[in-house]
Amino acid sequence: MSREPTNHELIVEKHTRNLRDGYHVWSHDKTDVERALGDYRWTGEMILGTYYQAEHGRPPDNGLEYRVGASGGGFDVLDFNWLPEEKWLAETEGVDVSISLNRRGKGREITIPIPIYGGGMSFGSISEQVMLARAIAAKKWSTFFSTGEGGYPSSLVPFKDHIITQVATGMFGVREETIQHAPIVEFKYAQGAKPGLGGHLLGDKATSSVAALRESVPWVSLFSPFPFHSVYSVEDHRKHVDWIKTTNPEALVSVKVSTPTDVDMVAVGSYFAGANIIHLDGSYGGTGAAPEIAKKNIAMPIEFAVPKVHKYLLGENIRDEVVLMASGGIRSADDIAKIVALGADGAVMGTSELVALGCTRCSNCERGRGCPFGLTTTDLLLSEFVSPEWGAERISNLYQSYEFQLKDILRKLGLSSIRELRGRKDLLVYRGNGRK
Ligand code: SF4
Repeated sequence: MSREPTNHELIVEKHTRNLRDGYHVWSHDKTDVERALGDYRWTGEMILGTYYQAEHGRPPDNGLEYRVGASGGGFDVLDFNWLPEEKWLAETEGVDVSISLNRRGKGREITIPIPIYGGGMSFGSISEQVMLARAIAAKKWSTFFSTGEGGYPSSLVPFKDHIITQVATGMFGVREETIQHAPIVEFKYAQGAKPGLGGHLLGDKATSSVAALRESVPWVSLFSPFPFHSVYSVEDHRKHVDWIKTTNPEALVSVKVSTPTDVDMVAVGSYFAGANIIHLDGSYGGTGAAPEIAKKNIAMPIEFAVPKVHKYLLGENIRDEVVLMASGGIRSADDIAKIVALGADGAVMGTSELVALGCTRCSNCERGRGCPFGLTTTDLLLSEFVSPEWGAERISNLYQSYEFQLKDILRKLGLSSIRELRGRKDLLVYRGNGRK
């Protein structure tokens, strides 16, 4: 005898149905799509295209423009310099999209089969269910996701081999055992969406479980100051890296920085301090909690920062010893391939994973009880909208679609590996503002 569905299952089913029905209704009327959803960067079509990929594991085939937005700049005016069709690699030829995260020639070797991992979103800024969904998907794809600042609940311990532990200025959730568990430790020196502003978790989101992990008082706002007051030089940074290497000699170290005009010098300093990964976070990332005025006016767009840093690292003859990851406004497989062609090794995804889970880009992450879809909230009832298994399947499907598209792009450029695409700006063309 079949049992009655639980409340939780009914909620999840309703949420899934809403996403699917929304896709079908909206996909027939693009005017409504544009009115109802998104903005110039994340257009309604792009959001719906991401929902589709999260549902089906492949790109939409119904005319939705899922590859680029309508910002009139950056990724949206770049296209690929495709080879004539007769020169494309055959579909039977293998195309490799894996990248190594350690190029220093010593220490732990970590290769991820797709050139992406999940970016930092803390427990408190997102729910435990969303964290678990990201963890399950990361494990399935043998890649990683970052905890953001604040540690992670015990339910995530089984996934520790796929979790990047973040150390940020507030040191929330940073404990000896979390460093010892971590295959990769990420120092967050700044965030592209709000450089110079540090972090702020509203009191409403600092529930007792969040506060317990952060060793703070429940329902009291938390601030992570800017900058690290222990780091004002490369030598100071070196001490930070030494601290991690002493606690966990096997861990790789990633350094997450925003994109000021001297970002190339910051990257070189990070390399000489011992970092394995330099993670550049451009200005267009962040959830709806990041202030718009900061997102639009402070850091450099990632499309400018990556080629600048890539060129500088080449000039210093250290480009092949460090991994350059990029985030902050990378929304699609096309964006991933474009940022690699501009000089990155891979991309760090955040918002697109939330969109896969139903985010509409409404910017209400910090209002009231938090996200009405249960994403950027710690409200117990709202969090129930996302079951970890459902969420993991959607993120995993999105990754599958990205993998498919990246291989397709490489084949059409005559390349058999994503590593051959790095820094190939000659394979990009400017389409101008008039592109559709
Ligand atoms: S409140 Fe939820 S749906 Fe709205 S932008 Fe934030 S995560 Fe997305």
